Amino acid sequence: MFQIHCPYCNEKRDEIEFAHAGEAHYVRPTAKEQAEMSDAEWSRYMFIRDNVRGDTAERWWHQHGCNLFFNAVRNTVTDKLVMTYKMGEPRPTAAKIEKARES
Ligand SMILES: [Zn+2]
Repeated sequence: MFQIHCPYCNEKRDEIEFAHAGEAHYVRPTAKEQAEMSDAEWSRYMFIRDNVRGDTAERWWHQHGCNLFFNAVRNTVTDKLVMTYKMGEPRPTAAKIEKARES
C-alpha cells in the first residue's frame, strides 16, 4: 500500500482512502456547445481519453477523508504519484513535475 498526499488535509494518507476519478482538466462543453456538437464529437468527448504513457494529470477523490476532489500527476509507467495539487490550479509545467519528482 502506498500513501497519497491530500493537498486539502495537507498530509499523506493511505491509498485506500482515495478513489481515482478520471482525467484532470477535462472541461465539459457548455449547453450551447453541446447543442452544436455532432454525434461523433459528443462521442469523442464522452468516451475518448488521452491514455498517456508517462506523466498524466488525473482527478482523485479523498473519499474517506475530507471528501474533496484534487488533481495529481501520476506516471503511468511507474504507477507513482509525482505530486498533487488543488482543483482550479493549472496543470503543472514539466519543470515543476521534475522538481517534485526529485524531492
Ligand atoms: Zn483530504
